[in-house]
Amino acid sequence: MIDQASGSPITIALSKGRILKETLPLLAQAGIEPAENIHTSRKLIFETNQPGVRLIVIRATDVPTYVEYGVADLGVSGKDVLMEHGAQEMYELLDLNIARCRLMTAALKGHVMPEGRMRVATKFVQVARRYYAEKGRQVDIIKLYGGMELAPILDLADCIVDIVDTGGTLRANGLEPLDHIADISTRLVASRAGYKTKAARLQPIVDQLQRAVSQAGKAA
Ligand code: AMP
Repeated sequence: MIDQASGSPITIALSKGRILKETLPLLAQAGIEPAENIHTSRKLIFETNQPGVRLIVIRATDVPTYVEYGVADLGVSGKDVLMEHGAQEMYELLDLNIARCRLMTAALKGHVMPEGRMRVATKFVQVARRYYAEKGRQVDIIKLYGGMELAPILDLADCIVDIVDTGGTLRANGLEPLDHIADISTRLVASRAGYKTKAARLQPIVDQLQRAVSQAGKAA
């Protein structure tokens, strides 16, 4: 058991959606369970069975912000979100090994890329900018918030930078994956400043999550 009863609460920021479903069993395995059903409640803050440990459930893209400002002590966030955010003031403590996928470029099958500037549609603007800058490729980045596959179909863009899991979404829209930018999975992060001041109380949680990840790996 974790003795968390003393001092200010430990706040863990969880990403809503796909990641949340896979995060909760890991947290439960680590001994932390929300006091009520996160999936059916409209609350944003949840007490847990551990005195002094609470969960906040927020949009995935907001998790690094809460952690960076130190209002969340720990955060559970996709590597794609961390890469896009920059996440410089954070420690990446653990790879939770869930929601695995790849960040890739993709285009319509057989599309011939222009010699000059290439149009790239993505919600990962910073990642795409860095990726093409490293390759020395001139690009115009077009920011979209979803449904990236539509951009090449309607000739808004030559290619996209997006998350690929099975590749089914790309195939269904006549696109093919091209370059692999990064392997993505969910990470446990902490703010640099916050982690130092609360290390004694945070480390047992990190250790228990580490054990939960190892056990999940063995069971798979
Ligand atoms: P798929 O058709 O299996 O390649 O899945 C692709 C779509 O699912 C992407 O456009 C993403 O929006 C979403 N997706 C798949 N895996 C993840 C993940 N781990 N994190 C966030 N989104 C994902």
